[in-house]
Amino acid sequence: MRDLTNEILELIRRTSSSLPPDVEQRLREAIEKEEPNSAARGAFETILKNVELSRAQSTPICQDTGTPIFNVHYPLGWSTLKLKAQIRAALADATKKSYMRPNAVDAIYDKNTGNNLGGDDFPYIHFEETEGDELVIELMLKGGGCENVGRQYSLPDNALGAGRDLAGVRKVVLDAVQKAQGQGCAPGILGVSIGGDRGTSYVKSKEVLLSEMGTRNADPKLAALEERLTSEANEMGIGPMGFGGKTTVLDTKIVGLSRLPASYYVSVSYMCWAYRRRKMTVKGEEVIYD
Ligand code: SF4
Repeated sequence: MRDLTNEILELIRRTSSSLPPDVEQRLREAIEKEEPNSAARGAFETILKNVELSRAQSTPICQDTGTPIFNVHYPLGWSTLKLKAQIRAALADATKKSYMRPNAVDAIYDKNTGNNLGGDDFPYIHFEETEGDELVIELMLKGGGCENVGRQYSLPDNALGAGRDLAGVRKVVLDAVQKAQGQGCAPGILGVSIGGDRGTSYVKSKEVLLSEMGTRNADPKLAALEERLTSEANEMGIGPMGFGGKTTVLDTKIVGLSRLPASYYVSVSYMCWAYRRRKMTVKGEEVIYD
């Protein structure tokens, strides 16, 4: 089996230092909506300058390089054990090269491992066998500040008047945005899952963030809710970095899951403006980065 350690290292470098073009484009559109000399415009200018500098210098877009989340879609014949070892080796090397900050801290002994390798849980790697012959590795770096403002709701939520329907989902998602204000480095991108158990609900609310900006759910009801939530969150006026302004949320992505009759979970994963997600596709000898 081919050794992809160097190619995965390059994937990590690109993810950490170069914001995807669709995200940068949204930020450039957002700055144009803000008033000249406003705090919001100043925040966007700083963000965009930082985006350009980090790309030019191969340095992290943000000092918090986040939790590395790998999603690997592999065709028959690849060894997940070997791929996992290559991902871990690439991540340790990326840390040595300062593309990544050492971020794996043993929660019991409060000790940073220094190389971004914790136990089996860090980095997080999900493997999925697929049809065809292409290997695809997706990587998302999820910052701690925005992770801290993620929320999970069990509906009905009487305090919020949220029942077990899409109207209830709308209420709790807007509650999450309201409670995140001033934290989590807005403008954010909302990953929302409806259903599942507590664990799958959170996992899927992050997985949905791997899709491109503007990707709408195939179900028109959920697609309409995605659009509505983005526009209603922006009417709150929280603005970039909580300075006030017209853009609080750049996009919303929703996934619908199965649930038990007894449960109705809604999980909201909040992604900050440093929306670092990239992928590499291996087709025979060729490696393509997006
Ligand atoms: S929330 Fe995002 S932008 Fe803010 S410090 Fe964390 S990684 Fe950086």
